[in-house]
Amino acid sequence: MKTIKENTTISLSVIEEMDLMGHEQIMFCNDSESGLKAIIAIHNTNLGPALGGARMWDYKSESDALEDVLRLSRGMTYKAAISGLDLGGGKAVIIGDPYTQKDENLMRSFGRFVDSLSGRYITAEDVGMTTQDIKYVRSETEHVTGMPENQGGSGSPSPVTAYGVYQGMKASAKFKWGSDSLKDKKILVQGVGHVGEHLIKYLTNEGASILIHEINNKRAEEIAIKYGVVPVSSEEVYGIDVDIYSPCALGGTLNPKTIKMLKCQIVAGAANNQLEDESRDALLLHEKEILYAPDFLINAGGLISVYAEIKGYDKQETMSKTKEIFNTTMEIFTTADMDNITPHEAALKIAQERVDAVKI
Ligand code: NAD
Repeated sequence: MKTIKENTTISLSVIEEMDLMGHEQIMFCNDSESGLKAIIAIHNTNLGPALGGARMWDYKSESDALEDVLRLSRGMTYKAAISGLDLGGGKAVIIGDPYTQKDENLMRSFGRFVDSLSGRYITAEDVGMTTQDIKYVRSETEHVTGMPENQGGSGSPSPVTAYGVYQGMKASAKFKWGSDSLKDKKILVQGVGHVGEHLIKYLTNEGASILIHEINNKRAEEIAIKYGVVPVSSEEVYGIDVDIYSPCALGGTLNPKTIKMLKCQIVAGAANNQLEDESRDALLLHEKEILYAPDFLINAGGLISVYAEIKGYDKQETMSKTKEIFNTTMEIFTTADMDNITPHEAALKIAQERVDAVKI
């Protein structure tokens, strides 16, 4: 009796949260043999199957993992919608340390759970996952994208994501300063992982002056030497005098405390869920006259890349669709300006309209 009551309480609060955020389905996965503990969230399938990567992270608690997967899957719905893709939004989180708790059994077990959803959710690579992991998942289910290029897949989505972020950043520069040139602009890239490094390549090629902030010291040193960029410490990161701040690590770095410190004029980066509280923090940035390029709009290159794999597009088509992020970003800024709302709100509104238009 007690157990039923406890379970009921937990289920209700999760369902209430799903209701609040508009989720269709959540699957909690537990396999004691492989050690897999994962959550798959399907936010919305109006436009197509829910596609979104699987993230492996050492979450402090199950509720942190749940909150992350709920926000990330919702972001995928809007990312697909604003990018004009016929996809819904979903995401998976695997709870555990990706460096010490990952093996073939765990990945295959995850693959079997994905398969049990019969294509309502399609998985791919995200933070803490590698192409090899995805290959193990693929051996249990066909509902996977982002396979290696030599196996007919679209390969790593990160370079395409970086290209889209670069386009979104150039559109932001054009809107703010009248020119899309990033030459001599001082840009802080926070998190120099897969996307961050590719973004640095585009930016250094254009003659921007790059600062980096990276919590992995070895990685920071490697990138600093390779591209001649300057690392900054955790203490100085938010208050540093730069033109553009580009969050490319994890989400939630924009909140009242950090926004108060920012001296940049533009925020444009790859990280998902950069705003700790969407409405509050988008408004705080707007009030400070910092132009914010909505994350789910400018980091859609990776999604476009894996979508191309499903649709059979070639690389050239993928890149030209990703280049469109420049025009969409300009349109969003213009709409936001005309309607006197934040760019985040404008992007959400347009995405939501597309999702609602196909409501069954
Ligand atoms: P990654 O794991 O390769 O790189 C992230 C980097 O950020 C790592 O080097 C990590 O050490 C560093 N980092 C973590 N926390 C930090 C902090 N507080 N300060 C500074 N550095 C920190 O991940 P990635 O694939 O490059 O993705 C980066 C971000 O972009 C993630 O938020 C991801 O969800 C998002 N994103 C990625 C893609 C893609 O195609 N890879 C697509 C869309 C969105």
